Amino acid sequence: MRFVSTRGEAPPVPFSTAVAQGLAPDGGLYLPEELPDLRLFLSEWEKLSYPELCLAFFELFADDIEPLNLARIVKASYEDFAHSEIAPIRHLDDKLSVLELFHGPTLAFKDFALQLLGNLYEDQITRTGQEISVLGATSGDTGAAAISGLLGKRGVKVFILYPNGRVSPLQERQMTCTGASNVFPLAIEGTFDDAQTALKEVFNDHEFKERVGLSAVNSINLARILAQSVYYLSAWLRLPKESREETVFVVPTGNFGNVFAGWLLSRMGVPIEEFRVATNRNDVLHRLFQTGEYALGTVSPSFAPSMDIQVASNFERFLHYFVQGDSKQVRQFTSDFLQTGSVRFEGFSDLGFSSSRVSDSEIPEIIKFIHDRYGYLVDPHTACSFKDLDPARSHLVLATAHPAKFPAVVQQAGLPEPRSSSLEILKKKEIVRYSVEATKESIKSFILENIG
Ligand SMILES: *Cc1c(COP(=O)(O)O)cnc(C)c1O
Repeated sequence: MRFVSTRGEAPPVPFSTAVAQGLAPDGGLYLPEELPDLRLFLSEWEKLSYPELCLAFFELFADDIEPLNLARIVKASYEDFAHSEIAPIRHLDDKLSVLELFHGPTLAFKDFALQLLGNLYEDQITRTGQEISVLGATSGDTGAAAISGLLGKRGVKVFILYPNGRVSPLQERQMTCTGASNVFPLAIEGTFDDAQTALKEVFNDHEFKERVGLSAVNSINLARILAQSVYYLSAWLRLPKESREETVFVVPTGNFGNVFAGWLLSRMGVPIEEFRVATNRNDVLHRLFQTGEYALGTVSPSFAPSMDIQVASNFERFLHYFVQGDSKQVRQFTSDFLQTGSVRFEGFSDLGFSSSRVSDSEIPEIIKFIHDRYGYLVDPHTACSFKDLDPARSHLVLATAHPAKFPAVVQQAGLPEPRSSSLEILKKKEIVRYSVEATKESIKSFILENIG
């Protein structure tokens, strides 16, 4: 299978190249040239374990990786998860269930993609002998998960930009207390969007990119999207047969990567009724699905910091399907948005999405409500999902992080501080971090100084 850029000005490439490049050379995002029809496989896949399902799914896309290698990569990627089912479902009542995506090494759903990406990179470096530098921007969880996925991997240097003071203390510890010499956590003054803008500029410097073997781990990497599609598939196959086609998947959303990965499955024939985009006060996507207008706002820090964004980079992938693959229109929308900060779309209401928004003060209230009603503790991101759900319909809420990652908000909800042993260990370790300006030049010179 080949992969094409949303902007249509880069040549189609095989899977490994799309993964190695991250962003396509024309500034677009990679997508499969055509999508497989999964209806042919669904009944056969019901019997598979999570890693087996992941392998079966990736075999459809990653056909340039030797099958035994791919099997080894997939198996290794889910070995460090703390739950035998990898992505278990908890039923809170007949109509409301939670898909727990926080049993990976850094206790957030991003481990699903980044453990796999780390192993894909390692395999690639072994085969080509070419070292790489990974650059990412994080609002907290991506950086921790990327660092965990790439920790100590030979031939890889990891540079992660994060907004100083805007990630939780424990997220910062997950990034800065690894003791690994190939890891460089870079604090910037500004927001996640500032970090992301600077990062995009560095990636658009093609000469630099070639020179240092630069690769991306933020949610623009296609392998991340596909790895996330797998847990939607696994959940759908495990839901009760009589209700799975009616179940609404509710997704705490920031960069649109997670919910897009699910929606892509519905394009491959998996009958999923609806995706509900749950936002915090940074509600660009909620406004989009309510009004058809995609308009830049300002970012306000919230209790759900991994969703504090206003430019949802994966939205461009969705746009590709919305305009039936017409890359000229994608380029037009993208440049209009860059210039004016807003674009209007018609026909967004019938695409299988609904949306909601919660204010910051509602987050601890919801945590308390869910705890009192079901005896179940959710983290502040997951909490955003429970707003205005129709009690007559079945919902599956994606729990994107473990509540122990965000103890301050849980305490604010009047509940005892949640604990996790892996986080307790980090509290005893030394912090190593660096400061850079959120500009292309200062990021480039930091990388050059540190790749040896
Ligand atoms: C990253 C993250 C999100 C947002 O996911 P997107 O793919 O950016 O939409 C939500 N919750 C948590 C805990 C996260 O780490």
